[in-house]
Amino acid sequence: MPRPIRATIHSAALHANLERVRRSVPDAKVWAVVKANAYGHGIERVFEGLRGADGFALLDLGEAERLRELGWRGPILLLEGVFEARDLELCSRLGLWHAVHCDEQIDMLAAHKTQAPQRVFLKMNSGMNRLGFAPQRYRSAWARLDALPQVDEISLMTHFSDADGPRGIAQQLERFNAAARDLPGERTLGNSAAILRHATDTQVRADWVRAGIVLYGSAPDFPEHGAGHWGIRPAMTLATRLLGVQRLQAGDTVGYGSLFCAAEPLTIGVAACGYADGYPRHCDTGTPVLVNGVRTRLVGRVSMDLLTVDLTPLERAGVAAGFGSEVTLWGRAAGGALLEIDEVARAAGSVGWELMAALARRVPVAVDSAAHGPGCGSIGAPDR
Ligand SMILES: *Cc1c(COP(=O)(O)O)cnc(C)c1O
Repeated sequence: MPRPIRATIHSAALHANLERVRRSVPDAKVWAVVKANAYGHGIERVFEGLRGADGFALLDLGEAERLRELGWRGPILLLEGVFEARDLELCSRLGLWHAVHCDEQIDMLAAHKTQAPQRVFLKMNSGMNRLGFAPQRYRSAWARLDALPQVDEISLMTHFSDADGPRGIAQQLERFNAAARDLPGERTLGNSAAILRHATDTQVRADWVRAGIVLYGSAPDFPEHGAGHWGIRPAMTLATRLLGVQRLQAGDTVGYGSLFCAAEPLTIGVAACGYADGYPRHCDTGTPVLVNGVRTRLVGRVSMDLLTVDLTPLERAGVAAGFGSEVTLWGRAAGGALLEIDEVARAAGSVGWELMAALARRVPVAVDSAAHGPGCGSIGAPDR
């Protein structure tokens, strides 16, 4: 028997989260962002839940190829564009749209012998200072692209640095508009935080939004708001079982470095999950965990394959726990109890994005295709 750890991908939650995005921006077309192997969920596994999107956005040409192999004929956008000239051939062959963020990418296009002209998304650096043309260089880049026979349609794109926080998007919008206002073409501006927090802005709602983390059920502005506030549901559950129980006396310590010391007699459970599964080693004593659906806390240091949890709350609640008991690291317990990935991420000084994307290869993943959503359906066979 394999180790009892398993991740489950909830198709119904993905579907519901996509619907949530559509309610927020009803006039926009929605890119489902599936970079980083669908934020760790697996492109093949999320496809069923997200196939109602208008297009898929990602970074890696191999991931675009996998989407085409799944039968997706709709739009696919390379968010960072091409990395070398021959990528343009694959864009032609697979019908990929691609971002253009620098002169080198325009040079590659100008030298490309294409069968059919390509659709590009010209990216402006409106203040993030990662990729994109500076506002004062944007129009000349647009004119250069417009003159190329290799280019069909030009759409306009920028990315917000602070849609999740108090700085907001106004300043970047202003810069974008000053340089791009009268240029023709579709726009794509908003990420998840903009979709949820700035949905009333007509520009965020325009043409295309790029929904990533919200689709996977993590709140982009946690801890200000949680997933419950936004009405989104976890698309991933990471669960395992207890392999052992230890009864501690006052003064006994737990795990490497003896970081936790029992102040009084205490029963702890030992769960089959560690940092080699993608659970963050930075999680300290106090990080929330569910055992048989009851909320308790991690104690001591997370090791490679195991972590330890306090069973006191279960004893108090009269819930039995022992070898084989269900442990939910994040997501939905069998009985329906919920533990937000954002809470665990915060305990690790991280964010939901990183925890999802770091799910380790050794963890088997199943897809829960039940129509009624997480915790209510049968589980399909692990597919890797
Ligand atoms: C990752 C990414 C997104 C999605 O961001 P979320 O915050 O996960 O919604 C949107 N646009 C670009 C350019 C990205 O790289």
